[in-house]
Amino acid sequence: TADRTPLAQRSPEELATYLERQRRAYAALTERGLRLDLTRGKPSTAQLDLSDALLRLPDGVTDADGVDVRNYGGLSGLRELREMFAELLWVDPDQLVAGGSSSLTMMHDVLVQHLLHGGVDSPRPWRDEDKVTFVCPVPGYDRHFTMLASYGIEMLTVPMRGDGPDVDAVESLVRDDPSVKGMWVVPTYANPSGSVVTQEVAGRLAAMPAAAPDFRIFWDNAYALHHLTSNEAKSADILSLASAAGHPHRPVMFASTSKITYAGAGVAFLAASRENVAAYLGHQQFASIGPDKVNQLRHVQFFGSAEGVRQHMVRHREILAPKFAAVDAALTAALGGLGVAEWTRPAGGYFVSLDVLDGCAARVVTLAKEAGIALTPAGASFPHGADPRDRNIRLAPSFPELEEVETAMAGVATCVALAAAERLSD
Ligand code: PLP
Repeated sequence: TADRTPLAQRSPEELATYLERQRRAYAALTERGLRLDLTRGKPSTAQLDLSDALLRLPDGVTDADGVDVRNYGGLSGLRELREMFAELLWVDPDQLVAGGSSSLTMMHDVLVQHLLHGGVDSPRPWRDEDKVTFVCPVPGYDRHFTMLASYGIEMLTVPMRGDGPDVDAVESLVRDDPSVKGMWVVPTYANPSGSVVTQEVAGRLAAMPAAAPDFRIFWDNAYALHHLTSNEAKSADILSLASAAGHPHRPVMFASTSKITYAGAGVAFLAASRENVAAYLGHQQFASIGPDKVNQLRHVQFFGSAEGVRQHMVRHREILAPKFAAVDAALTAALGGLGVAEWTRPAGGYFVSLDVLDGCAARVVTLAKEAGIALTPAGASFPHGADPRDRNIRLAPSFPELEEVETAMAGVATCVALAAAERLSD
């Protein structure tokens, strides 16, 4: 069995032996000519196949209210689909909009509406402020950060912990600085940490005093239903918490079926206070006469009920869980006890967050690339792509076949070990 002594505690000679062994393992790895990709948080073909009954739906062209779904209209989405997902997201159907295929587009629309017009409780449009700042839990979702960067919005980071964003840090950033207009939260099985925001943290985020009267929490519940175990996390009820705390307009919730049915042809949702929803639709009416209701009806018929969605997610879990287990197994086998890496064992979502020794993430990604294993660029999970400690790597095991995940992760582990041995031998 392998020596499990932490590398940092080994003598220079032992370390030199270890480094030499990792160099040989890495040379053998590069000789295999692999071409594997762990960058993409996409559903696999087998997962997409689960929803192929959609391709033969809808059956008929009218919804329960007799509306012809082929025609214009119905900006807030089909009532039946809103009722189904309102149950799953623990919101009131009146406060839920079913829109197009992308929740990211809805987030972008809400952001731009606030910049151009302000929100229901804004003293002025955000574009008329000297500066707009968002609080960004890190590691986080790169597209959240690039969206803000594209509008020149400044980003202040706070650590993401197992129970959600470091709420002490958030409270102190938000309390005194009126330029802080919003924050991102991926509450359930966060990208990439897998963290789940607890009811307590959600309660504090909902209730904390904010210098900006129109402070917004972009509550991106992209993985609300994406459990990897039978112990299914229930997302905190942010709308009720915020409302009870006297900040009803603070949260805007987003979700979609991108990783439930089809990632390019699902349905996206927005939920917020009635006033926020009215403001959103009030702006949206100038951009759209109505969403793709044919697709919405197809989804209603495919799922049948909220319970149908839950059962469908179990089939995803059966495909995904072994891949996540393979990531953990490969890292544990090669690196367990060595003190050179820590990684998450998420109970849901699409990612594993891997922290290597400080200053080693970019090196690991380069080593992997040269061995034919594509990893997300180091730093991608931080604003402006800059991880101040150069230690975080986001792993996405959903898309490759199980065997490919096993092979790729054994390779990644070799790269982590080699980079660590190099660093400690410096
Ligand atoms: N939000 C998070 C946290 C994600 O990880 C992703 C996709 O990776 C999205 C949103 C994209 O959502 P959609 O496909 O609904 O635009």
